[in-house]
Amino acid sequence: MSLLAGVPRAGVADAMEEAGREAARILGDLVRLDTTNPPGNESLVADYLARLFEREGIAYQRLSRDEGRDNIIARLHGSGKGKPVLLYSHSDVVPADPGWGTWTVDPFSGEVRDGFLYGRGAIDAKGLLVCHLMTLLMLNRENVPLDRDVIFLAAASEETGSGPGVIWLLENHREVIDAEVALGEGGRVWASSDTVWGAWVQAGEKSAHNLTVTAIGDAGHASVPRGRNAAGRLARAITRIEALDLPERPNPVSKAFLEIMGPMDSRLDEGKPRFEAITRSTVTVTSLRSGVKSNVIPPFAEANLNLRLLPGEDLDEITQLIEDAAAENGVTVRHKPGVSNGASWIPFDTPFFGTIRDAVKAHWPNAVVAPYLSPGTSDASKLRAAGIFAYGLMPFPMTREESRGVHGVDERVSLDYLTEGVSLTHTIVLNWAGATQKKESDGR
Ligand SMILES: [Zn+2]
Repeated sequence: MSLLAGVPRAGVADAMEEAGREAARILGDLVRLDTTNPPGNESLVADYLARLFEREGIAYQRLSRDEGRDNIIARLHGSGKGKPVLLYSHSDVVPADPGWGTWTVDPFSGEVRDGFLYGRGAIDAKGLLVCHLMTLLMLNRENVPLDRDVIFLAAASEETGSGPGVIWLLENHREVIDAEVALGEGGRVWASSDTVWGAWVQAGEKSAHNLTVTAIGDAGHASVPRGRNAAGRLARAITRIEALDLPERPNPVSKAFLEIMGPMDSRLDEGKPRFEAITRSTVTVTSLRSGVKSNVIPPFAEANLNLRLLPGEDLDEITQLIEDAAAENGVTVRHKPGVSNGASWIPFDTPFFGTIRDAVKAHWPNAVVAPYLSPGTSDASKLRAAGIFAYGLMPFPMTREESRGVHGVDERVSLDYLTEGVSLTHTIVLNWAGATQKKESDGR
């Protein structure tokens, strides 16, 4: 049953406009709740959503491992004919430090300017959260009969590895978020000035690791160099590591992405590096430490390497490759003990992926839909490791410039596009979980 069956298109559009205005209001409220992680304080968002769910008569639970860091989960019950679908986002945000660049607005004001709502989290992931939330509210208000439970999750701590968030929930309260398929962050709907041209649906992601390169040498007075300088050794090792091309490791998701997007690479302002990042594991230097005094040769130098592994790669083997490239007396490369590659991909020839693709096409007929392998990380891999097919899509269109606001400065979302994001999410969930009219878009 469509949201407003029998209502003319103009009526549906009006209802969606109204939902968009409500989404904007709620998003402004959520941006003003400072959930910078660390420390997180995600319970601020849980308090807000709990009050909302109370008013709306939606069943919810708050679960936390750490004080002040509540995860909040709400559920609409279906007939049980199909297995649940999970809509997951996170309530914490990364810092908005001046060190990351200068904002033109207060990042926690939720200021609206020229049709954009500004603020840390406007996209990642409070914007996403609001699209999920509005979908839940609309389905509940319209009493839409469902074949499946629809679960909403705003998790804590995604930005620092999800220890008290999705990881803890999966280990301790699996039944509360257990689902067959899930929809979360990671993918993008792309807009240019005149059109919505593409949608990347995240079906795979790399995993992130840090390696430490350590160089030791002979300390001494800088007036008599003896050639075994730790800083020099480190610098030479890094030069060789930077020149290293890790082997290509294609998988079905990256192959499909490159096949579809390769010919359109003019759309991507950083086309080649992104394609490379999808094709190979990568390693890059993110910090350097050495030296205590201007006239002392340091006995020790250290660099942090940030390593992004593709699915199927062996962390020990790659570390060895990097150590071989670094090879020089006194230089070692190591990773934290006990860690392994957490990268993942899942098939995209699934009915749920098809539902997402059809909904995108119904909204933007010219959009090219591609499965996407994200070089970044999210909660998707944790859910996939638990057997839940998690796909990622930020449902509101954004331009390249707007996308750079994620973890950057002047993060903002277009309010018109936010409305479209609510509409897209609603269509996907309705078509997937709704009891009737399953395979038909409700139009918009
Ligand atoms: Zn995020």
